[in-house]
Amino acid sequence: MTSGSMLAVEEARARILALVQRLEPVEVSLIDARDMVLAEDVRAGRDIPPLDNTAMDGYAVRAADTAGAAESSPVALRVVGELAAGYTWREPVGPGQALRIMTGAPMPPGADAVVPFEETDEHGLAAPKGAHRVEGAVRVLKAARPGANVRRAGEDVRADTAVLAAGTQLRAGHLGVLASLGIDRASCYRRPLVAIISTGDEVVSPGQPAGPGQIYDSNAYAVAALVQKYGGVPEVLGIARDTVEDLTVHLKAAMNADLVVTSAGVSRGDFDVVKTVLAQQGEIDFWLVNMRPGKPLAFGVLRGADGRRVPHLGLPGNPVSSMITFELFGRYALLKMRGLPLTDHVRLRAMMRDRIRMSDGRRFYARCIVSRTPDGGWEASLSGPQGSGVLTAMAAANGLAVVPEGSRDVQPGEEVDVLMLDWSAPELARTGP
Ligand code: AMP
Ligand code: MG
Repeated sequence: MTSGSMLAVEEARARILALVQRLEPVEVSLIDARDMVLAEDVRAGRDIPPLDNTAMDGYAVRAADTAGAAESSPVALRVVGELAAGYTWREPVGPGQALRIMTGAPMPPGADAVVPFEETDEHGLAAPKGAHRVEGAVRVLKAARPGANVRRAGEDVRADTAVLAAGTQLRAGHLGVLASLGIDRASCYRRPLVAIISTGDEVVSPGQPAGPGQIYDSNAYAVAALVQKYGGVPEVLGIARDTVEDLTVHLKAAMNADLVVTSAGVSRGDFDVVKTVLAQQGEIDFWLVNMRPGKPLAFGVLRGADGRRVPHLGLPGNPVSSMITFELFGRYALLKMRGLPLTDHVRLRAMMRDRIRMSDGRRFYARCIVSRTPDGGWEASLSGPQGSGVLTAMAAANGLAVVPEGSRDVQPGEEVDVLMLDWSAPELARTGP
């Protein structure tokens, strides 16, 4: 087959996405909602903060009373009481008076500023609980401007305004905002359940003895981890032998999933089995995608007994190919099901330190390690041998250098585009303020 009759990566992806739908919203507890996508706008039912309150431990005062106060000319105020956070003070603070007040406590009526302890002759006394009348005096050593150290009601969020829009992917701060509104559940698009089936007579599960000629099933675990990485819930359904019967049984067990991912059995050698089974259970396309690694790819829709239609992605068997094709195709399917925008991996330009050999005209995804250069740029080196079975080089990579279709070898020192797979690698860290 010539490269002309192969499907471009983008075309294959578009065909997959055409058959994948966003899932329905579900109510989830905030603790489970991280990274999920809001299905509806959230409006504030109250002001945040709900009342004017103090940002400092100190004295609530009438700012005008402190005019001219300085270390050399302190202003003495009569202390009428003390107030902790969580309590309220109803009596107005009158001229010449002060209320001892702890961070977060609501401002008493009458007062319009807070003088922190550091700007008085009182230093670091224990905080009281509750609200108490006390008799005493405090000397203010610095004039306060009206509003000083006061957090206004509604300065963060105003009641009856839209706070978070539908489509927001909930990160830590968003979850905190929801909780601050008193909300403990959110309506979010459901996480996709992804059934994962490995195929092949030679494949055995880790933890089992392996006979001669057998290999361990790495694909299920690597792909399950990618499913989790992209917000899905993996369900590993084991290994189907290369027989129509066994594959049929395994696919039946997968019909409650939102996406079925199989690995292997789509290359020339044994795709007849997959083809036969899928012809019985749905519609499937076998594609040669113009990329390396990962040329053979299958995609289709399985039909359940109840008429349910479940998209099926058939990844190539080679461990590196299955991971890269999941990154380039499966990832997008999950984004769409979760209600996320179909963003690509972050792409950057890096100076390539190694030669990338192009053995044919297919677009090549080279496993590489991206790091910072001393001048703040990016450089990349190959993470190991580039064979599609060399999983350790995939494991070591934090990016994929993309060499376009029809390119010649990339020479050391040339710039390449890199798709970033992982930003947490220590190579990317830079110390400094
Ligand atoms: P196939 O697509 O069935 O021709 O498989 C291609 C290559 O991937 C073969 O070398 C298989 O042994 C290998 N392979 C298939 N399935 C797995 C798996 N689950 N884990 C690791 N390697 C696999
Ligand atoms: Mg096989």
